[in-house]
Amino acid sequence: MSESSRIKADFIVHNLASAVLFPEPYRGQGTVPSWRTEELKNASVAAKEGVIVWVGPSARLSAEVQIEADARFYNGCGMTAVPGFVDSHTHLVYAGDRSDEFEMRVQGRSYLDILAAGGGILRTTEAIRNMPEELILVETLDRIEQIMRTGVTTVEIKTGYGLDLENELKMLRVIDRLKEESLIRIIPTFMGAHAIPADRRSDPDAFVDEICKVWIPEVARLELAMFNDVFTENKAFSVQQSRRILEAGLANGLRAKIHADEVNVLGGVDLAVELGAVSADHLLMTGDAGIAKLKGSGVIPTVLPGTSTYLMESHHAPARKMIEACLPLAIASDHNPGSCQFLGATIIQALAMLQLRLSASEALIAGTLHAAHALGFGDQIGAIEPGRRMDLALFAGDSFRQIGYQAGASRVEALIVGGVVAIDQF
Ligand SMILES: [Zn+2]
Repeated sequence: MSESSRIKADFIVHNLASAVLFPEPYRGQGTVPSWRTEELKNASVAAKEGVIVWVGPSARLSAEVQIEADARFYNGCGMTAVPGFVDSHTHLVYAGDRSDEFEMRVQGRSYLDILAAGGGILRTTEAIRNMPEELILVETLDRIEQIMRTGVTTVEIKTGYGLDLENELKMLRVIDRLKEESLIRIIPTFMGAHAIPADRRSDPDAFVDEICKVWIPEVARLELAMFNDVFTENKAFSVQQSRRILEAGLANGLRAKIHADEVNVLGGVDLAVELGAVSADHLLMTGDAGIAKLKGSGVIPTVLPGTSTYLMESHHAPARKMIEACLPLAIASDHNPGSCQFLGATIIQALAMLQLRLSASEALIAGTLHAAHALGFGDQIGAIEPGRRMDLALFAGDSFRQIGYQAGASRVEALIVGGVVAIDQF
């Protein structure tokens, strides 16, 4: 091969024990997901300007890749590279401590008891409203540092603890500053419709009106969010209210996401399909009709095994049925201060296997490629493939199967985000 016809690279991760490839990646609506992984042994991955340009056996690297004079190298000796994990559903920005609620729940007290004791989402709202922006930022940066150590390179973060315009914007500003101050990709979601504050309960429709007519246009004008999410549930927002909120977002350029079927099947999945939502999340109670509805819709079903575990639910989302129905299932952490404190990707990989009965390959694809689709980036991140961002999580050993097996204990040896080494343990 001549010098000029070889692929040019300015960053190379070489000498890897193994690189995990997805030979037939899901390519979006109208295509069928594949759950096949391939472990390429003795592998190297080359990138140019933060984008993967070549993946192959290390022995072929110098013949097929033209390494630029100032190229950087990372020696992956003894490590396995998987695509950087994508956590497509989190409430990572919050304040306060709700450990007493956790203990009450473990001891069998009901949600109503917890509410009566001053617990629930509105308690975090109080804490967010009272904490200085700078301090919220510092606390969240600490959580981001922790999830990076589990291999996360992209994280979505929702608002929804402000619950008035001033404090929802405060949360969005924190998320915006996280983009500057952290080394991983941060995707902001506006979720003003997370709960109805106590002082708005007498007229929830007026609250919905305000979200649609005042908050959403302002969030869009400031360009602080990419998605608009709603909690469709009894005691939160009805399907009709959710429809108004999501349509207001769409009219303002914010794609729809939805918390659906967590406790009751109200029709959130139908609404997601009808509005072309990017994802429908939770789906704990989704039955055969909901699964049939999702099939071929392009909506990414995102299940959250950490939450059902943390809430000690008697059952989990029907992930196996979704896979059997050829749905592009995604998994995410749902990290939040009340219903799920599991933090990072590795424990969610383990819980997806233990609780949802996914194979190691299924859990990996659901937590990377399909989660990328749940954020609308399914063709840009989430797999080790030429043309995608150079986002790699490097773990010790020669197989990714250690990640789920180690049940949340595994930490990365290195983390690479867009061709930049963000964590290096050596
Ligand atoms: Zn959530």
